[in-house]
Amino acid sequence: MDVLDILRRQAGRFQCPKCGESLANCELEMIGQHDDQSLVRVTCAHCKDTRMIAVAIATEVEPQTPLVDHRDQPSDDLGAAISADEVLDARLALTTFQGDLNSLLR
Ligand SMILES: [Zn+2]
Repeated sequence: MDVLDILRRQAGRFQCPKCGESLANCELEMIGQHDDQSLVRVTCAHCKDTRMIAVAIATEVEPQTPLVDHRDQPSDDLGAAISADEVLDARLALTTFQGDLNSLLR
């Protein structure tokens, strides 16, 4: 799944928060990827305003770690908690992106 391709197709629907021009021709640069979350630098083609956005792409996958395993392995509690937070963050970012890219760009 090409995150930049998806973003580019969506960009024209949104306006630059700084100058109000369409982001259709903005520059998109992938900064980094972690699991299903991507950090992308967006540069407005009009005013060159640069912003970093975090984008999460939803992929319907089965949970890799069943809940019961968390109880059976107390020593992994910390790791499990961090993983849960990351999933929550990803879903939060996705919700924001689908709703309004402008709010994500702030
Ligand atoms: Zn702009």
